Amino acid sequence: MKIFRTDLHIGLNNKLFEISSGSLGLDKVSFSEDKITCTIHSEQAPNGYYLKGLMTVSIRESCDRCLIDFNSKQKIEFSILLTSDVKLIKNDEHDVIFFTDQDDAIEIDPVLAEYILLDRPLKKLCTEDCKGLCTSCGCNKNEIDCDCKQETQSSSREVLKNIN
Ligand SMILES: [Zn+2]
Ligand SMILES: [Zn+2]
Repeated sequence: MKIFRTDLHIGLNNKLFEISSGSLGLDKVSFSEDKITCTIHSEQAPNGYYLKGLMTVSIRESCDRCLIDFNSKQKIEFSILLTSDVKLIKNDEHDVIFFTDQDDAIEIDPVLAEYILLDRPLKKLCTEDCKGLCTSCGCNKNEIDCDCKQETQSSSREVLKNIN
């Protein structure tokens, strides 16, 4: 998605943008909706502009406990500094994109892609209290209450033996 200098000059006031997830080059993320909506607010900054925004992303994840696919809708905030000041390139508060006076527009997709990757949880759960799969019979314990005994070290070893 390109942001144009002329728009920045006037100022973006929570303007709504739509991006196709395909344009982000995130092959390992499966989006459940191609459309990513994004509102952006811009402000003047020293030697450039601040872009602050919120994007809504729908990602298809697979639960780490019960292995079922689920949709995860994330609202991700971002804060980007567009600047021609090289000294500001290292900045903890914002992601910085080099934007010189000669540039008429700036591509922000790579930075948005980074935000999406960083926002994904390490542990993916369909619900906070997902009960997972029974280690004995393999049923989804969110759906069925099986009669298997509480798992112990020896019984799970027993299961492995049966599978082999
Ligand atoms: Zn689950
Ligand atoms: Zn069971």
